[in-house]
Amino acid sequence: MEDLIKKAARDIVEAKKVVALTGSGMSAESGIPTFRDQGGFWEKYNPDVYAHIDTFFSQPEKPWQMVKAFDQQLRAKPNPGHLALAEIEKMGFLKEIITQNVDNLHQQAGSTKVIEFHGNLRRGVCLVCGKYYEWGEITLEVLPPRCECNGVLKPDAVFFGEPIPEEAFQRAYEASRKCKLMFVIGTSAIVYPAASIPQVAKQAGAVVVEINPETTPLTDFVSDYSIIGKAGIILPQIVHALKQLA
Ligand code: NAD
Repeated sequence: MEDLIKKAARDIVEAKKVVALTGSGMSAESGIPTFRDQGGFWEKYNPDVYAHIDTFFSQPEKPWQMVKAFDQQLRAKPNPGHLALAEIEKMGFLKEIITQNVDNLHQQAGSTKVIEFHGNLRRGVCLVCGKYYEWGEITLEVLPPRCECNGVLKPDAVFFGEPIPEEAFQRAYEASRKCKLMFVIGTSAIVYPAASIPQVAKQAGAVVVEINPETTPLTDFVSDYSIIGKAGIILPQIVHALKQLA
């Protein structure tokens, strides 16, 4: 393990252009449950129903009920893994984070180059006039919340059944093609199209390194090596090893 952490630090220095793809495991240590976590939040708010665009159009209050409950989780703070990625950006190595998360925790940790592949639950958008609302501006007392024009607000996250926002999609694939090293952190790599991003990086010649306590479909076929463990433990160790190289 220690050898792999030192190797990752050396690979970062050599690669210089590093991109991270993150998934819900990245925020697990902040107390936000992943889809894979049994029981609890996602059993009560089955994402296939509550996070499906058809549900939003037929019963817009339902996804907002989930968002209201998720708000508890959204008060979560960035964990040492988020902070470590922000530090690797400040050191000049990490060029972009492509995140599937909708929790805003990378931004709160200080990362400035974040591609929100699945949007951000801490925003709402009016489906009538297109006005955006930040979290503090949205009142959840009466659901669904409405715009000042009376249009229904939609959480600005990508629902099941919706396409990836064009700009995020283009930026993500461009970053994947240009990077020399891609970290794949806390994602089960089964939700497409995000799951294809490491393959794009690999085909363009990047080294792919997974950080996850479990193996994924990428582990044997795409990743060059895997560091088995939690993001909040492994990433600070990589930062420590990087500082020793400097
Ligand atoms: P997933 O639930 O399918 O997989 C989570 C992965 O994280 C698993 O491989 C698991 O082994 C790993 N993991 C668990 N704890 C970890 C830790 N401490 N460190 C590193 N890895 C850890 O999640 P996914 O691949 O991101 O895909 C599901 C979808 O769920 C995404 O599209 C995402 O938008 C959405 N989602 C987001 C959040 C969030 O914003 N925090 C939370 C739940 C789901």
